[in-house]
Amino acid sequence: MKFQAVRGFKDWLPENFAKYEYLINIAKNWLKKYNFKEIKIPILEKTELFVRSIGEVTDIVQKETYTFQDRNKNFLTLRPEATAGICRMVIEHGLHVRPKPLKYFTIGPMFRHERPQKGRLREFYQIDLELFTELNPYLEVELIDLALKILNTPLKQSGQSLEDIYTLELNSLGCFKCRPLYREALLEYLKKHKNELCEICKDRLERNPLRVLDCKIETCKEIVSQSPVITDYLCEECKEHFEELKSILRALNIKYVLNPRLVRGLDYYVRTIFEIKAKGLGAQDTVAAGGRYDYLLEELGGPHLPAIGFAIGLERWAISIFGDEEKRGVLPLDNILNKLKPDLYLVLLGKEAIFEGIKLARILREKGVRCETTYEDKSLKAQLKNADKLSARYALILGEKELKDKSVIFKNLKESRQENIDFENLKELSEKVYEKINYA
Ligand code: ATP
Ligand code: MG
Repeated sequence: MKFQAVRGFKDWLPENFAKYEYLINIAKNWLKKYNFKEIKIPILEKTELFVRSIGEVTDIVQKETYTFQDRNKNFLTLRPEATAGICRMVIEHGLHVRPKPLKYFTIGPMFRHERPQKGRLREFYQIDLELFTELNPYLEVELIDLALKILNTPLKQSGQSLEDIYTLELNSLGCFKCRPLYREALLEYLKKHKNELCEICKDRLERNPLRVLDCKIETCKEIVSQSPVITDYLCEECKEHFEELKSILRALNIKYVLNPRLVRGLDYYVRTIFEIKAKGLGAQDTVAAGGRYDYLLEELGGPHLPAIGFAIGLERWAISIFGDEEKRGVLPLDNILNKLKPDLYLVLLGKEAIFEGIKLARILREKGVRCETTYEDKSLKAQLKNADKLSARYALILGEKELKDKSVIFKNLKESRQENIDFENLKELSEKVYEKINYA
C-alpha cells in the first residue's frame, strides 16, 4: 500500500470508536455531576506557551513536541497536553474574574513524538480537567476521588473492585520555598553517581535533576532508589498541607500508596501530584495523572490563582478495561459492539416495494429505529443473507404481494421466529414495528 497512517497515529475503526465513546460518556456523566464545564482549546499553540509552562528542560519540550514554522515563520506546536492551553484561555478571556471555582474539561488529541509502543502513541486522547480556586487539600481529594469514580464505573459491571485494577500513587513536590533545598540534596547525591547515570540523565543533572527520578533505565532507577526523598525536605506549610490531604483521604477510605520519588514530566507542578496506575499494563501503566500547579497562571502573565488538574489517557484506560492483543480485559466488548448492529433490515422485493420501503425507513429512523435496507431489487435470499451479515436483530419483508395484502412478514432473526403485521398505511406500520422492536 502506498499510503499508511503516520507512525504512532491511529485510525479509530467503528469498534474502537464504540469503546472510546462508552468510556467518554462515563467520564462526561461524572464531570457534569461535579459541575465541570466542557471547553475546547486549539490543537495548535505558540511554541513559547509550552516552553514557558511545561519547562524548557523537560523531555516533552526538548524531544517530544511537533514544532514547526508556519508560512509566516511563526513557531507553532501541536499541543502535547491541555493544561497550558487552558491556562492561556483563562488569562486571555479574563475568566479568573468569574465566580470560583472555575471547572473546565476538554477531551481531544494530544501529540508527542515519542517512541511508539504499547500504550504509547504519538497522537493520543486525553480527558483533561482543570480546577481553579483557592489552595485547599479538600480540592485535591475531590479531584482524586472524581478520577477514581470515573475509573471505577466500568468496573462495577465486571464485579472487580477498584483496588483489583488500579493503584493511586501520591507525592508532594513541595513549593518554591522548599523544593530548591531538596534539589540541592538530590544533586549532591546524584553527582556522586554521575558516571553510572545514562547519558540523558547526565545531561539532566545540572539543569533539571528531579527529572532523573523519572528515568525508565534500570541503572538509573537503581541509583534513584537510594536517593534522598522530597518528603524529608518539605517546609512546614507543604508538610501540613500534605498531612491534611492524607488524613482526608483516609477519612474517606480512599486507598493510596505514598511514592516519595514520584515526579511528573512537567515543571509546573507544585505540592500534590498523583498517578493512577493500572496493574498488569506493563511499562506504560499510568492511566491518569495530575497535580497542583498554583503558580502557572501567574508565570504565564495572569493573576495568582491556585489550580489543580489531571488527565486520563483514553487509550490506556481502554486497554485497562477491554484488554488488547496480549491481555484479556475485565469487561466483554459484546454489549458495546451490539450497539453497532442494526435493529431492523427492510427486505424489499420489486420496484414498488423499494419505493414504499425507503419511505418506511425514513419514518422508522425518525422514530429512532436503527434501520438498514436495500436500494436494489435483489433476491429474498440475498437480502436475508445481507441482513444476517450485518447482524440485524429483525427483518421486515415487503414485496408487491405484501403491499397489496397490507400485511408484512416480521422476522426475529436471532430467534428464527416470524409473524405477520397488518397495516393500513406506512405510518401505522412504522408504529407497530416500533412497538415490536422495543418490546419483542
Ligand atoms: P508517561 O510517564 O507514561 O510518559 P506522562 O507523565 O508523560 O506519562 P502526562 O503528561 O501526565 O503523562 O499525561 C497524562 C496521561 O496521558 C498519562 O498518564 C497517559 O495515560 C497518557 N499519555 C501520556 N503520554 C502518552 C502517549 N505517548 N501515548 C498514550 N497515552 C499517553
Ligand atoms: Mg511521557
